[in-house]
Amino acid sequence: MSKEHAQTLIIGHRGQDGTLLREQLKASGHLWIGVDRNVLETSPGISSPFAAPVDIIQLEHVEELVDWCRPKEIYYLAACHRGADESPEEIGLFFNESLAVNVHGPLNVLRAIQKCSPKSRFLYASSSLIYGPKAISEGRIHEKEPKNPAEAYAFEKALVGHYCQQYRIQKGIFASVAILFNHESQYRPKGFFTRDVTDALALIALGKMSSWEVGSLDSVVDWLYAGDVVDAMKRIISLDSSDDFIVARGKGHTTGEFISIACEMLGLNPTLCIRCNGEKLFRKDSCRVGDPSKLCQATGWCPTMTFPEMVRHLTQAAINRLHKELT
Ligand code: NDP
Repeated sequence: MSKEHAQTLIIGHRGQDGTLLREQLKASGHLWIGVDRNVLETSPGISSPFAAPVDIIQLEHVEELVDWCRPKEIYYLAACHRGADESPEEIGLFFNESLAVNVHGPLNVLRAIQKCSPKSRFLYASSSLIYGPKAISEGRIHEKEPKNPAEAYAFEKALVGHYCQQYRIQKGIFASVAILFNHESQYRPKGFFTRDVTDALALIALGKMSSWEVGSLDSVVDWLYAGDVVDAMKRIISLDSSDDFIVARGKGHTTGEFISIACEMLGLNPTLCIRCNGEKLFRKDSCRVGDPSKLCQATGWCPTMTFPEMVRHLTQAAINRLHKELT
């Protein structure tokens, strides 16, 4: 099998969305080439000519990679995330890496596309955080909403979104921006609310823990199942022309609702096992609900998993993980 059959290059292919994208591509018989931190992998049967892993921060590496595979589609999913409570010391500590992964990497890919493979289509995974903190009364966010990033990660995402527009307009490159709202799956790592709370509730249900603290039960989040987000990204990259698209459910749900549904599934009383501690609250005053109308109209996309189904899916994943760990 030659690399000509691999139509998709995924940067950040081992993360949550990259894993789901690979699963979806495999199911539809598509081959892929994936680059993650210190690793280059391909669908079985494709052999890479690279002796060492490709470093996306090095322009020459990226040019060699893009020139070698000249894929139909390139997804840039790699990211360096940090919490919103970052102190100036922490910003200093992560700044170089964050700037490298979130900005230099995607700009290298855009430059490589222009130079080596101008027909390749590019999709950059941006974030709803580019719009900054919002109040529920401000309504749903649409693509034309003024950007108001309030943290380094959001500034970086906004900057690359701007460069994608420039490549689109000035160079005629297909460079789409998927502005992603929170999305979850069984592949979410520890440190994210949905993973931590479902793991804790599963432990409580098994009698291995008595209670769990959350920052607030009233935080409103526009949550989607990550598989639906990956489907949206595939549809965006397949359109006739590139653009910016909000990828959201269009409806917010509270952290309290999330916990109630998970507790109901596990036979727990949330008032007995969940305690609130405002100190744990990330992004106080933050509430963003997106308006996916443009995406729905352009691609026919709509989420397949409802919010309660998503919570039950994540809770079941926590139970499965725990059973594996305990046996
Ligand atoms: P993940 O963090 O799960 O995946 C990102 C992947 O990028 C990880 O495998 C990470 O490796 C890898 N990576 C980090 N640094 C490098 C590097 N230098 N070279 C190659 N790979 C690297 O993110 P998600 O899958 O959840 O999200 C996909 C994209 O969507 C990201 O860009 C994210 O910012 C964006 N997004 C996600 C949202 C969500 O709710 N999930 C919401 C809004 C935006 P490692 O784990 O070793 O760091």
